[in-house]
Amino acid sequence: MSVTAQVVQNFTSSQSSLQPVPVALAAGDGIGPEISQAVCRILDAAGSRASFVPITVGERSYLDGVSSGVSPEAWATLREHRVLLKGPISTPQGGGYKSVNVTLRKSLGLFANIRPCRSWHPWVATRHPDMDVLIVRENEEDTYAGIEHRQTAEVTQCLKLITQPGSERVIRYAFELARAQGRRKVHCFTKDNIMKITDGLFHQTFDRIAAEYPDIESSHLIIDIGTALLADRPEMFDLIVAPNLYGDIISDVAAQITGSVGLGGSANIGPEFAMFEAVHGSAPDIAGQDIANPSGMLLAAVDMLRYIGDTSTASRIHAAWRKTLAEGLHTADIHRAGHSRKRLGTQAFADAIIERL
Ligand code: NAD
Repeated sequence: MSVTAQVVQNFTSSQSSLQPVPVALAAGDGIGPEISQAVCRILDAAGSRASFVPITVGERSYLDGVSSGVSPEAWATLREHRVLLKGPISTPQGGGYKSVNVTLRKSLGLFANIRPCRSWHPWVATRHPDMDVLIVRENEEDTYAGIEHRQTAEVTQCLKLITQPGSERVIRYAFELARAQGRRKVHCFTKDNIMKITDGLFHQTFDRIAAEYPDIESSHLIIDIGTALLADRPEMFDLIVAPNLYGDIISDVAAQITGSVGLGGSANIGPEFAMFEAVHGSAPDIAGQDIANPSGMLLAAVDMLRYIGDTSTASRIHAAWRKTLAEGLHTADIHRAGHSRKRLGTQAFADAIIERL
């Protein structure tokens, strides 16, 4: 049985088939509350089994004096229900508090971040109509381990942490996912020509695990040319596995070239917990204007429904979302004159999906 199927089965076998499933919900910062509202309205209208238990993390939590950004009550809810749907959370740049996203991923043991990036041609305008790439990002190690300090007033240092067990776990997960989804090619991106020991270990582990999957083509690219090729010819990639930082960057690139970063959803998976969120951030530049695209968070929620075993509702919502796009009803980020039929705000886009359920 694949790792993904095992994780899903472990969760769903602990649920009885028609009962509501409690899911922690963190609305997030910036555009988080408005896209969360849109997504929850769609799931409720579809009669999904998810029963949301709100928790507060991020900016509001800091304002309440919780220094980690996650209160003891929020941790208790997460540990009890084990599944989280999360809006994007702001993290100050160059100082201030530590990223709540990183804290959640590390504390909950969410070792793999799965970010599907595919085109929705011909409905959403893109230069790459045949693109369908799955990015599997290592989610706990690398420079995201947050081991950083000031040596002197003029010298700073950040430690890049790559372990053999951590690399093996996410790379094996990537190959199992490729097999489960019938994907034929797995690429690994690192910079092991320069970081010979750390990225070298990730690459060596990739080559060793790849040998166990002779049915799947495997190949390594140095991150610079890998990213350039992904931006220029994304059709040549099927699944890419990468250390944390590279995976973060290439998934924004990939999501953007499908039409908008607002279309990307993602799943953070670990042996006991799962967290579903959009690829993008809290977009403070458009917060509160009812123009954000809720699709990334909605696609994450659809994956969450599959994870809790509510596959029929997941398929119905996905079909209604596709129909909305196909009819040219688009949010501002994917609206193109001559291609789209109508520009809709966040809540009107959600209403259009609900009408098509
Ligand atoms: P961002 O992804 O928030 O925004 C980048 C650009 O994309 C902006 O122009 C924004 O308006 C646009 N955009 C993003 N999502 C959109 C959507 N759904 N619909 C339409 N347009 C959308 O990236 P940023 O500005 O670099 O980061 C803002 C904040 O988000 C930072 O504090 C950062 O730390 C945080 N962040 C959080 C997460 C997360 O919670 N997982 C991920 C990335 C960034």
